[in-house]
Amino acid sequence: MELRKRLHNTMVELNGNIRVFCRIRPENATEESKNTVIHVDPLDQGLLSATTPTGSKQFHCDRVFAPLCTQEEVYDEVKPVIISCLDGYNVCIFAYGQTGSGKTYTMEGPVSNAGINQRSITDLFNTLKQRETEVEYKIVVSMIEIYNEKIRDLLNLSKDKLAIRICENGLLDIPGLTAIQVDSPADVSSLLSKGRSNRTTTATDANEKSSRSHAIVRVKVTMVNKLTKAVTTGRLNLVDLAGSERVSQSGATGQVLKEAQYINKSLSELGNVVTALRNRQTHIPFRNCQLTRLLEDCLVGDSKTLMFVQLAPNVNQINESISSLNFAEKISKVQTKLNSPPTSGESAAKTLPLAKNNGRPSNFIRFNSVRQTKPRVVRQNS
Ligand code: ADP
Ligand code: MG
Repeated sequence: MELRKRLHNTMVELNGNIRVFCRIRPENATEESKNTVIHVDPLDQGLLSATTPTGSKQFHCDRVFAPLCTQEEVYDEVKPVIISCLDGYNVCIFAYGQTGSGKTYTMEGPVSNAGINQRSITDLFNTLKQRETEVEYKIVVSMIEIYNEKIRDLLNLSKDKLAIRICENGLLDIPGLTAIQVDSPADVSSLLSKGRSNRTTTATDANEKSSRSHAIVRVKVTMVNKLTKAVTTGRLNLVDLAGSERVSQSGATGQVLKEAQYINKSLSELGNVVTALRNRQTHIPFRNCQLTRLLEDCLVGDSKTLMFVQLAPNVNQINESISSLNFAEKISKVQTKLNSPPTSGESAAKTLPLAKNNGRPSNFIRFNSVRQTKPRVVRQNS
């Protein structure tokens, strides 16, 4: 089991602990194909180009999903990271993009063609079922909305002013948040649909049902090894972010303007945190907004993060698409400077101190990977 865990983690880390994916949604009925300005490169799955009034720009990311990519194909790419949750790693998956770019489609998906949320929790069940002879397990789900910096419980709307606290064990917690144990994939569907119906939406000029809040599905998996009684905890955060469109385009005033300002601030803070993690900065600015505070535990250490940057393909949305691609580019950049170079004549692995990361040398830095900043805190061995 230990060997399997280590090999699986190595495979995930080879792809990078923080990865950025772009997903382009298909045109809708009102858009014309000749107005498509976002194109994928047929020869390179990590490259796309955007045609702007001033010329064509190319963007690189870890993987581009073309408009015809299915929910299955998207989930296949996400699956290894979801499964690492069962080995005690914390996982965050985000969908970023302007309203109407397909964030909710990617995360929730239509009932008949589920997105990452439903698929990942079902997959956790199925994988744990196969390990039933080895482990006892419990899956608990909470659903949260962050609206105007206030945390609301999507499974109990009377709890609309929840607060983040640090508990005695040093972990962050939200006292009073509803956490429901799910015992089957069917339980998961009914819970997710209850939370979905409670999500805040407000009409704006940019989109009739613009999402003005961040919605987070939090899954906690606790496993007890039947033989050794060792307890492993993994957490999964599935985040459907609020729309990233600029305030000026939404024609927003008053309350809606205030909402937009909170959204802009939290999205840019999220970008700063991910950039700081990728650049291995010593100070990570988690404290500046509720979204990053809430996810602090799950973003540090050897946690795994996937960011889906969603794009609408049409010329009318090109400015928003470019701004989303700039966000993707900002968080994709990784600094590969080593802390101390290896001395001549000796191999780097011998001379550099070992990181607290499965005994690998601390210079084990790959493009798109992040070195540990702190030891992981959630894995408990009794
Ligand atoms: P957002 O959550 O970013 O505001 P939505 O997920 O609601 O955007 O998507 C906007 C519209 O586009 C919806 O009608 C949705 O069904 C459709 N859509 C988005 N992505 C896809 C896709 N990959 N395939 C088919 N339809 C999509
Ligand atoms: Mg949405």
